Amino acid sequence: MPILEFMLVASKPDTFEKLQLLSRDSQYDLACACGSNKFDRRTRDRSGKWIYPVTLPNGGTAMLFKTLISNVCSSDCKYCPLRSNMDIRRCTLKPEEIVNTFLDYYNKGEVFGLFLSSGVIGTAEATMDKLITCAEILRKKHQFKGYIHLKILPGSSPAAIEKAISVSNAVSLNIETPGKEFLERLSNKKDFLRDIVEPMKLISRLTHQSRRKVKQTTQFIVGAAGETDQHIINYTEALYKRMGLNRVYFSIYQHSNTENRENTDMQDGFMREHRLYQVDFLFRKYGFTPSDIIYDSSGLLSIETDPKEIWAQKHPEFFPVSINTATKYELLRVPGLGLTTVERVLERRKAAKICSIDDIGIIGKRLLKASKYLNFGNLPQNKTFLFNF
Ligand code: SF4
Repeated sequence: MPILEFMLVASKPDTFEKLQLLSRDSQYDLACACGSNKFDRRTRDRSGKWIYPVTLPNGGTAMLFKTLISNVCSSDCKYCPLRSNMDIRRCTLKPEEIVNTFLDYYNKGEVFGLFLSSGVIGTAEATMDKLITCAEILRKKHQFKGYIHLKILPGSSPAAIEKAISVSNAVSLNIETPGKEFLERLSNKKDFLRDIVEPMKLISRLTHQSRRKVKQTTQFIVGAAGETDQHIINYTEALYKRMGLNRVYFSIYQHSNTENRENTDMQDGFMREHRLYQVDFLFRKYGFTPSDIIYDSSGLLSIETDPKEIWAQKHPEFFPVSINTATKYELLRVPGLGLTTVERVLERRKAAKICSIDDIGIIGKRLLKASKYLNFGNLPQNKTFLFNF
């Protein structure tokens, strides 16, 4: 038994000990933008405590105080180390413990906000009450105006959802699987439509109606229910289009409660997760649609090659792209050209014709890769389809 857990068994845990356990258990929830980056922002900061780096929309990083209120859970999700039949040490933080500890960090400028989640303490309603109480103490008693992200538990009532949104900057209810049939393989207690989809629709409606900007995110657990990447990606697109979600996150199912990332299966798993993020990015920023994504015969993305390059390999008729006349979205189809580089190309060619890769003014392997897909003449693009968004 790890020393910390032995101490907890032997004595009543204090706030620090509870936070050690509960912040560790919160690592699997990435709906706050931890771990969505290739360089792995899933793990905690070097102090090993409850401070998690998150990736900001502009690509930068900031520190978030992230913990569960409780790792007690009455639910039975097969992929989760906190499910009710697991023999683990359980504890629950009081709202004041969370608020006071968080404010210590916030006032010292060590974190920019709070992410609070929880196992189901008896019922979703009772647990939501605790989550909302923490946020209300911060907002009302301490006049806290900063960032709060609250987890909405599956099966929460409309009243609890509305209250949570009223005190948060962001909320997330995890969709977990791309459909009812997959969730049924993982839980006998959660009903996909009643407990997840309907509340997500309500969150979407309320966050879009709200005069304050409140973000809605969600997360898939990847690889626990035998779903394919294609299933996940089709659902992801629908979540953006039909519910207007701000972000969808992916968390690979980790077979054991471990932060060991050396294991080969786990390495493939993390690469699968990374490929899903790449597709998500292609949808949100590059104008790709589900029909542009190419899978193997099992509905999986390639682990070896990124999805944009595979699209390029399958569409030789689209290349070479004229760097001097192509639209932004045509340039974004070129492997090796990212958003920043394309913006630079568009800027540079206003001033003068781009005659070689060197004229872009950036060096690197990715640009060398791009050069084989580009034409440096200024003839108009003569392709079967053009991307003008
Ligand atoms: S409800 Fe959440 S904490 Fe409880 S078993 Fe399911 S995933 Fe784990």
